[in-house]
Amino acid sequence: MPGHALLFHSVWDDPDAWRRALAARFPGIELRVWPDVGDRQDIAYAFVENLPAGELAKLPNLKAILSPGAGVDHLFRDPALPRHIPMVKVVQERMTRGIVQYVVLHVLRHHRHMPAYQAQQRECLWQELKQPGAWDRRVGVMGLGTLGRASVKALADLGFQVAGWSRTRKRIKGVETFAGAGEFAAFLGRSEILVCLLALTPETAGIVNARTIAMLPAGASFVNLARGRHVVEADLLAALDSGHLSHATLDVFNQEPLPPASRFWSHPRVTVTPHRAGNSDRLAIIDQMLDAVERLESGRTLRHSVNARHGY
Ligand code: NDP
Repeated sequence: MPGHALLFHSVWDDPDAWRRALAARFPGIELRVWPDVGDRQDIAYAFVENLPAGELAKLPNLKAILSPGAGVDHLFRDPALPRHIPMVKVVQERMTRGIVQYVVLHVLRHHRHMPAYQAQQRECLWQELKQPGAWDRRVGVMGLGTLGRASVKALADLGFQVAGWSRTRKRIKGVETFAGAGEFAAFLGRSEILVCLLALTPETAGIVNARTIAMLPAGASFVNLARGRHVVEADLLAALDSGHLSHATLDVFNQEPLPPASRFWSHPRVTVTPHRAGNSDRLAIIDQMLDAVERLESGRTLRHSVNARHGY
């Protein structure tokens, strides 16, 4: 029967764990783990991350591409991506909550000078640092999608002066919003703590670079939990070395796992976490994908679909 199997590939995850979870939730579907594709005509759904370029275009009966994560830049890196096929990304309350917790934790940590106090503790140094109130602290979040919007709301609830920047104009109560390239400099110029929650596209790759970092107020700090490729890492290190940036908290990197030789590991102004800001749950992701498959099979509108024109 053509179109009855699901192709799985991820460089991060254990295929056997997915196989067990899929079997529990998707009893009717046959799982093929790339590169053991078998007859390509059988593949109806591709549940894939970082599949080698050109592979999806070889599947003649493909009905949908399911991304096991919220970011879909891995799909758009493929020049032969069949853009007419519906694509679905992960949108989950549990993931959103995990991201919001990470943002709040690290914005508060920067706001309350925790990296500096930890350094002072190592020197047995009892010294107060000037502490502004949250209402005097300007936090800026790049990206106001599912995760950025939830984050700015939580930060505004804590009393921060919050701004958000996105491609298209947004209106969010208690949040100053900026849109498009023309308003980026003004957004950066007021952001003492900058958080990146952008989608990674050709327009946003390398958006945190020497020129844009220089627009941030002196002593600003940076939290990146979107994608490593948003950042020109050498420029970020130079800004941390010079002290223009006081601290960076990084969950994502150009190369993951972060190589042992990376200066980020030992830099005194850097906090590294291993791409775990979002708190994804395998069975919940599969349930979302099952819902997508059921919707497609019954001709209903897909939820959380990717816009192929925008690339996210
Ligand atoms: P969404 O697709 O919902 O939102 C993306 C946001 O980026 C939108 O607000 C969009 O603007 C904005 N954007 C895209 N292009 C531009 C541009 N050229 N200029 C300005 N803004 C732009 O993404 P999510 O909220 O789901 O995810 C955000 C990021 O978080 C992704 O990079 C994802 O990979 C990452 N992520 C990281 C995790 C981790 O564990 N570290 C876990 C989950 C996600 P507009 O609203 O106008 O369209």
